[in-house]
Amino acid sequence: MRYCRVGERKLAKGAAMKDLQARIATFLRGKPGGLYCDDCIREEFPDATIEDVGRETESMHGQIGFLKIPDICTRCGQQKPVTRAM
Ligand SMILES: [Zn+2]
Repeated sequence: MRYCRVGERKLAKGAAMKDLQARIATFLRGKPGGLYCDDCIREEFPDATIEDVGRETESMHGQIGFLKIPDICTRCGQQKPVTRAM
């Protein structure tokens, strides 16, 4: 598994957020086939804002192993952009 390093420039936000993308990746990999919108992902990470989560999932889209696409969220059932592990 190889990671794009483009997210690294966002670290100025602070140490608490620096591993948010990795934590989201771990969460999604633990839910095979699960499709999660930014709002539902944020519920898993109370220390993050919806802007933080949106930025990280946008960044994850196109990385090996993740897609962010319009679909039905597994958790809330709404049609919106969702992120999934492949
Ligand atoms: Zn949702």
